[in-house]
Amino acid sequence: MQVGLRIDVDTFRGTKYGVPNLCRVLAGHSIRATFFFCVGPDNMGRHLWRLLRPAFLWKMLRTKAASLYGWDILLRGTFWPGPIIGERLADIIRSVADAGHEVGLHAWDHHAWQAHIDTMTAEAIYQSLNRGVEMLTQVLGRPPTCSAVPGWKCNDLVLKEKAKFPFHYNSDCRGENIFHPVVGGRELLQPQIPVTLPTYDEVVGRIGLTDSNYNDYILALLDPAKLNVLTIHAEVEGIVCLEMFREFMSKAVSKGVSFVPLETLLQNCLETGPAPVVRRELPGREGWVACQGNVGVDDGRN
Ligand SMILES: [Zn+2]
Repeated sequence: MQVGLRIDVDTFRGTKYGVPNLCRVLAGHSIRATFFFCVGPDNMGRHLWRLLRPAFLWKMLRTKAASLYGWDILLRGTFWPGPIIGERLADIIRSVADAGHEVGLHAWDHHAWQAHIDTMTAEAIYQSLNRGVEMLTQVLGRPPTCSAVPGWKCNDLVLKEKAKFPFHYNSDCRGENIFHPVVGGRELLQPQIPVTLPTYDEVVGRIGLTDSNYNDYILALLDPAKLNVLTIHAEVEGIVCLEMFREFMSKAVSKGVSFVPLETLLQNCLETGPAPVVRRELPGREGWVACQGNVGVDDGRN
């Protein structure tokens, strides 16, 4: 059974400490994965202001955000300007590509994207993507071949602007199978590889899940008959939950799970249908997320 493994890197700290940790775990099993990097300023500390919102406060308490992310991250960008990750930690990003992993763009500024996507114009979206692509091109010596927006905050404008970059595919939404997004009645060329499995922060602290049964929960969700795409975070599985993740990989590998970069899933995919990208609420996640539109039990259309 193949499982696409996607590692989102949101912060300076996640890049500096979480990424090398995860690379060591993956190397121990000769596993290659897909890393999506943020390369602009680390302004994730601006999230602190969102503490004022009850849903987010609840999530912070539930997932022990301070221990997950560290106070330095929560404050970063709030009281002093965030460091440019792609400038300060270029060696780490390069070392990931050199180790044979697939490297894609997550964002120029993770916080700005999540906070402003609803009001960003096509031009602003293009500029944000372009800054990220240019920085990553400078770091890698070649353009990134794939991308994944922060927080699954994707809309039709984003899909159309992404088509201007040489991405082989994008992973901007949640869903069930690889598809070609339909925008304004037209099927776009770049396929979407949706994430099919929940993330740690979405389920732990809810539905009876803790650190001690989370691994088994995810393993039970893997289905050889379906597309399996798992997202982990450099800040979570790479730092605070590193031991748990190490156990997860050992268990999964011993059960015959083969982890692959997302590009491999695309190469092995025989058929892709068209689908719109729609907004949905997801339990355990704040606000809306982009989803593959023609699947899912709560769609009401199938
Ligand atoms: Zn992210």
